[in-house]
This record gives sequence, C-alpha cells and structure tokens, in this order.
Amino acid sequence: MRLRDLPSVDQLARGIDDPLAVDVARSLLDRAREQVHAGIDPGDLAGRLREELTAARAPRLRRVLNATGVIAHTNLGRAPLAEHALERVREVARGYSNLEYDLSAGGRGSRQAHVGGIIPRLTGAEGALVVNNNAAAVMLALAALAEGREVLVSRGELIEIGDGFRIPDVLTRSGARLREVGTTNRTRAADYEAAISPETALILRVHQSNFRIVGFTEQPSLAELAQVAQSHKLPLVDDLGSGALIDLGDEPTARSSLAAGADLVCFSGDKLLGGPQAGIIVGRADLVERLRRHPLQRALRADKLTLAALEATLMLALDSPDEIPALRMLREPPGAVRARAERLAELVGGEVEETIARAGGGALPLAELPSYACAVEERLAAPLRLGDPPVVSILRDGRLLLDCRTLTDAEVDEAAVAVAAARTHERN
Ligand SMILES: *Cc1c(COP(=O)(O)O)cnc(C)c1O
Repeated sequence: MRLRDLPSVDQLARGIDDPLAVDVARSLLDRAREQVHAGIDPGDLAGRLREELTAARAPRLRRVLNATGVIAHTNLGRAPLAEHALERVREVARGYSNLEYDLSAGGRGSRQAHVGGIIPRLTGAEGALVVNNNAAAVMLALAALAEGREVLVSRGELIEIGDGFRIPDVLTRSGARLREVGTTNRTRAADYEAAISPETALILRVHQSNFRIVGFTEQPSLAELAQVAQSHKLPLVDDLGSGALIDLGDEPTARSSLAAGADLVCFSGDKLLGGPQAGIIVGRADLVERLRRHPLQRALRADKLTLAALEATLMLALDSPDEIPALRMLREPPGAVRARAERLAELVGGEVEETIARAGGGALPLAELPSYACAVEERLAAPLRLGDPPVVSILRDGRLLLDCRTLTDAEVDEAAVAVAAARTHERN
C-alpha cells in the first residue's frame, strides 16, 4: 500500500455516529502512515476504527478478581463494599439527600451529623468527623492543633506508609514542626517529658503499621503517654492507621485507644473497617469541633457517596460484622477457604496449595492467615490479567496461585471461566 492510498480522516470517520470518531480516526491514520513507511500493510482500517472506538468506550477503572490473598490490597482498591453499603450509595445518590439539611429544623445542617451518632456508639467517643482518607485526618488534626508549633513523635514511629506518605513530610505540610523523641528502638515516657517546652502543641503517636521493631525495644504504653500529655495539658493524638472497630487480635481498636487516654484518634475507613476510602477522627468534642471549623476541613471532607457507604458499614460493624466482606475474609475459618480452593481446582484441573493470606493496608503485618490456593500454569498470569474480568494472582515456584481467601464463592466460578478463557487465548 502507498501513502496516497490511505483515506483522509474525514473519509475514514464519515458516517460513523460517534463524537470520538474523528479523534480516533486521526490517531489510527497517524499509525497507519508509519506502518506504510515501514512497509507494513495497515490492514482493514474501517474494522480497526470500529475496534478502537469500542475500546475507547470501555471503562478504564474496572472490577478485578483479587486472587492474591491480600485482603485490604491498596493497589486493588482496598475493601470491597458490603451489599448493604452499595444499596445505601445508590439510594442516596440517585436523588437529592439531606446531606447538609436538617429535616427537623427545616434549615442548614451538617454533613458530619449523619455518622455523629453511630461512631460514638462504636468507639465511646464524644465527637466524630469524617474526611477523605486517614492521611487527610492526620493532616487536619496537626494543622488545626499544632500549626506553627512543635509536635513530639518517637523516632521509632517516623514511618512511611507507602506511595510516599511519610509522617515527617505530613507534619511539615500541616505547618507544624517535628520534634523527634527517643531513638529508633527505644523511647521512654521520660523522653517525651524532657522534650516538652512552651513550643509544644501536642504529642502524636503513630501506629507502626507495616513493620515491627523487634529485639531490644521499648515504647511507652498509650496510658503512660496520656499521663505525660495530661500533666502538661497537651492533647495526645493517636494515628491508628487501620483502626479496627471490632476486636481483631493484635490491632488496637479506636475504643481501647480512647479508653487509654488518647484525646483524638485517627483511622482509615477502608482498611480493617472494610468500608469506603475515608479518614475517621474521633475523640474529645472540643477538639473535634476545632478540626471541623478549620478551613482545611472544607477541602478534605468526605462526599455523600462515601458518607452513605460508611454509615451503612458502621451499622453492620455494630451487629453483623460478617456481612462486611473484608471482615468476613479476615475471620473465615481455613476449612471454608480450602473448600473453595478444592472446588476451583476441580473446575480448572489445578492443584490445591497451602498459602499465607495477609490483612494488607499496613494492618497486622505479622499476622499470617492460613489460606489455600488453586495452582495453575505460570504462563496464564498475563492472559488472566488481560481477561474480562481481569484476575490478579501470585507467582510462586514456577506456578500461578489463585488464593481463595480473597475470592467469594461466586468469584470462584468466574475465576474458573477466566482460566479456561486464558488457556484458549494461549492456544490461539
Ligand atoms: C494507612 C495509614 C495512614 C494513611 O491512611 P489512608 O486511609 O491510606 O490515607 C496513615 N497512618 C497510618 C499509621 C497508616 O497505617
């Protein structure tokens, strides 16, 4: 084919009733010209245009099957929402809502009021506030309570959570100044005491999240820190990270942290709570009110979809936590996971393997959840990722493991279809 045999953009896009047609035809013809230059036949241009228009319309943000065994997988959207939370999002979002309208007074209300009832019931807090995520919660607390002043943090807690969220940077951005206390492995209550000056605004404790220091270590208990803070009339802010609401073994709950004397506690909505991405701040009513009035609150606040999903998730945490998918996966007995792995292995002709599942999201980093996977051919990894729905799995010892702790019963059937499709794709 010669260059002058190629149609013009208008000729190629003519008659196609799609506002994207001209753009896509232009880019297609650019590539076709390069192919002709290189001596390659660009093929059926009308057919390619139709395919590329279909692809351009396909959503880029897609549902995937998580066969990694990592429950709050940050790259895979963390917590899947409970059915009831999804219903509430749909209900609230399909029409207008009382997001900032007080129905009994007939006037302006607060969006923070909706979870202001249930969160105190779950945590024992006086007040609560919801923002976009936990990073925003920490940022807001520091900006509102410590701008231009010092915040004491143990050197063992100056962590990076992932994707560049570093406690020292967050502190600086909030306008507060970091005052490091103690050493990496050992910090005592007396170290905080000695660091307090008229410049001190608050004491921050940060949950170590994704790592642990072991060996010759020492950290004061929260109650000891609270004593230091109280005797100097300083607020104690506890960044819990995951923030379990129900007892999950090693992970501290917001309730226990408040009971030990923290004045404010910050935690994520989509780690161990299993709800939407959100940052929840609970604690003393006067401090929560200072955060609510800070100008950053307006920029960091949660939207109505988040609030609807969060309210529903919190209600479930109160009386039926196993309806929250992330909590169900965390607590499911290994035998039930094994049964799913056996069913998948039978459907695809794979083998059952023992694996270790993880909480993810920086929570419970040492907790190993006994789990089971179906092992298939390693070379299916890419076709499975590119399938519909995409399946993300793990490579181990030359095989591909589909961990069944993070797949539902229904998803096991979908995974089986996906494996069959990936093998067919391979043969062609
Ligand atoms: C995960 C985490 C954060 C950030 O929470 P996001 O909800 O991801 O913004 C902050 N602090 C700690 C200790 C964490 O573990």
